[in-house]
Amino acid sequence: MSSERTGDVSRRTFLHTTGGALIGGAAAALAVGEATGVASAQLRVPPAPGPKLGFAVVGLGSLAINQILPAFAKCERAKPAALVSGSRQKAETLAVRYDVDTKHIYGYDNFDAIANDPAIDIVYIVLPNSMHHEYTIRALKAGKHVLCEKPMANTPKECEEMIAAAKAANRTLMIGYRLHYEPHTQAMIAIARAQEFGPARVIVCDAGFNIGDPAQWRLNKKLAGGGSLMDIGIYALQAARYLSGEEPTEISAMSYTTPNDPRFKEVEETITFQLKFPSGVLAHCTSSYGCGLNRFRVFAPKGSFELEPALSYNGIRMFVHRGGVMEERVIADRDQFALEMDHLAESVARNTEPLTPGEEGLRDLRIMTAIYEAARTGATVKL
Ligand code: NDP
Repeated sequence: MSSERTGDVSRRTFLHTTGGALIGGAAAALAVGEATGVASAQLRVPPAPGPKLGFAVVGLGSLAINQILPAFAKCERAKPAALVSGSRQKAETLAVRYDVDTKHIYGYDNFDAIANDPAIDIVYIVLPNSMHHEYTIRALKAGKHVLCEKPMANTPKECEEMIAAAKAANRTLMIGYRLHYEPHTQAMIAIARAQEFGPARVIVCDAGFNIGDPAQWRLNKKLAGGGSLMDIGIYALQAARYLSGEEPTEISAMSYTTPNDPRFKEVEETITFQLKFPSGVLAHCTSSYGCGLNRFRVFAPKGSFELEPALSYNGIRMFVHRGGVMEERVIADRDQFALEMDHLAESVARNTEPLTPGEEGLRDLRIMTAIYEAARTGATVKL
């Protein structure tokens, strides 16, 4: 009787805490167990995760400072080992906070000296897009494995050269497609593959935000490689590909950029694109720097399922729709960057291919090139 009640309390506590920190649920279960003496069987100590691999973080900007460096605290296989920056002062401040010895601070000029730093196993490239190609290849030549942020590079040719460099160096190259490691996204993919609502017929993926400062590198074509598509629309393209589980064969697209907006002198503001997949699934995707868009939805004969928000760093929510009834499926939030870095560390330790290798980044660059061509010419592009 008392153990049944204890079970109910634990389950409810878990449901209340799933939107926040999972540790809250575990702590609550521990408190209940201590009070009743019945929960000890639930308190299994996980196996030791193995040694942590050292990461050098290259480019100490918004993503590195606000997401990546804090995420190491939640990693089981990854730790910060070095910092690479154009600002020695900024790197020294962060080195103190993340317990990195200042002898492991590098600039862009002496970056290649990482070859002689055994503390570094993996280099995480978090630079503007146009610099991914150069720094990935230099890191691989220094004998390090590489995690490169999206988009992989500015052109398919650069991606091919990065993949070739990884092969030549016999090192792993992974692209930082964080959503592949995110639990709600993984649940969406599982529902799609299991065809819980029947085979997908239509996929709608929208990703965008209202971009600010006109002087930032994202609005400079040379540094960014393109506009909203390269930066945020890539998430919509990724989602259409992983939710269909197929590669597109035909693409049409249309773009619009507000005239005289000081932000869009060089790159596109909004672009919509349609993808046709071999099974007949059609995807409609939108990418914008002019408004917030954050939703992926799959429509099938027996209902639909969606994420909204779909690509935020946390707080992603899943809803399923069947027969006019909407149900939320609650899944615990996890730190996407911690999961992503642990995955690469595990892949390197086991010598296995990561879930998002360089080839995955190349596929997106080829498709995005075709999307730009379709928007420019107005013609359907066959792949
Ligand atoms: P930021 O502009 O905030 O940071 C980029 C950093 O790169 C700068 O702080 C600077 O670091 C360094 N840098 C070196 N040369 C230049 C240059 N010429 N112009 C500007 N910066 C330079 O960009 P983000 O952190 O937002 O983005 C970095 C990368 O991460 C991009 O490829 C982006 O697409 C990707 N990204 C991925 C996200 C994801 O969710 N996976 C989210 C956000 C970004 P320093 O001063 O230390 O030299």
